Amino acid sequence: MYSAMLSAPVGDDVFGEDPTVAKLESHLASLFGKEAGLFFPTGTQSNLCGLMAHCNSRSSEIILGSNSHLCLYEQGGLSTLGSIHSRQLPEDPETAQVPIDAFVAGVRGDDPHYPRTAVAAIENTHNVLGGKVLPASYISSLGAALAAQDVPLHIDGARIFNACVKLNVTPAELCAGAASVSICLSKGLGSPVGSVLVGSKHVVGLARRARKAAGGGMRQAGVIAAAGLYAVENNVERLADDHQRAEFLCGKLREAGYGIEVAPTTNLCYFTLPDGCALDSGAFADRCKERGVLVGLMYGETFRFATHKDVDDEGLELAAKVFADVLR
Ligand SMILES: *Cc1c(COP(=O)(O)O)cnc(C)c1O
Repeated sequence: MYSAMLSAPVGDDVFGEDPTVAKLESHLASLFGKEAGLFFPTGTQSNLCGLMAHCNSRSSEIILGSNSHLCLYEQGGLSTLGSIHSRQLPEDPETAQVPIDAFVAGVRGDDPHYPRTAVAAIENTHNVLGGKVLPASYISSLGAALAAQDVPLHIDGARIFNACVKLNVTPAELCAGAASVSICLSKGLGSPVGSVLVGSKHVVGLARRARKAAGGGMRQAGVIAAAGLYAVENNVERLADDHQRAEFLCGKLREAGYGIEVAPTTNLCYFTLPDGCALDSGAFADRCKERGVLVGLMYGETFRFATHKDVDDEGLELAAKVFADVLR
C-alpha cells in the first residue's frame, strides 16, 4: 500500500486533474454499477454530502433507521449542517431491516404541514445491530417500492464489502436498488483514510457542490486515493478471514462460561457480561487491557469486537486465552 502511495501520479483534484483520484472514483462507480464517484476524506462527509445532494431543497426529510450510524454517530450533521429533517423508524433487531411497508408508509408528499420526503437510507452491514447483512432481495424490493413514490434510496455502505463477501454477490448486484452508496475504504479494507460516494452523474455533481461547503475539496489527493485503490484491489476477498475470526472469537467467549450470548454475522461481535458474572464491565475491560487485549465499550454495558486486517490468528489465540482467564 505504501509503495502504491509513493508512486501514485497526482494532480490538483480541486480542478479534477488528479488521475489517481479519478481512477479510484471511476473504478468504484463501475464496481457498483453507477455512473460516477466522488472521493471524500471520511464516511461522515460522504454520507452528509450524498444526502444533501438528494435533499437539495428546503424542508426536505430523510427516512432512516433509528439505530443507524447516520442517526446515532454523525452528530446530527444531517440537521445541523444539511438542514435535513429526519424521520426515524425502528429496525427489526433480528434482521436489522426497517420493514418495507413502514418505509413506504413513512413517505410524506406535498402537503404544507409536512417536510417533503426526499430520500430514504439504510445501512449495510448494520453496525449497531451486530454487523448484520441486508440481502439484495430486500434492497431491490425497497428501492422499487420507494422509486414508485419518487424517493431515492441511499446506502450507508461503510462495510458494504463485508456484506458482498458474506452474501457472495457483486457490489453492483447488491446495490442495484439504490440511487447512491457511501463506501468506506478505511474500515476493514485497511486504507488509512477515505470514502467514496457513488451514484448518478446528477447526484454526484450536487454532492461535489455540497462537499465544497462541507469543508472543501482536496488537492494532490492521489497519494491517499492510491491507498484506497490498493485496498479495493487487494483487501476485499480477505474480509472472509475477518468473518471467520469473529466466529472463532465468539465461540471462545461462549465457551468461557457465564452464558455469554454472542453471535457474529460478519466482522463485528457485540456482547454484554451476564448478571451472574463476577466482574463488572469496567473491571473486565481493565483486566483484559493489563494482559494486552483492548476491549471497547460501545454503548452502555455493551462491548464490541471488530476483527480486521491487523488482527491475526496469534492475536486471536491470545485474546481467547485472556478472556478465559479473566472470566474464570
Ligand atoms: C465508520 C462509519 C461511518 C463513517 O465513517 P468515518 O470515516 O468514520 O466518518 C459511517 N457509517 C458507518 C456504518 C460506519 O461504521
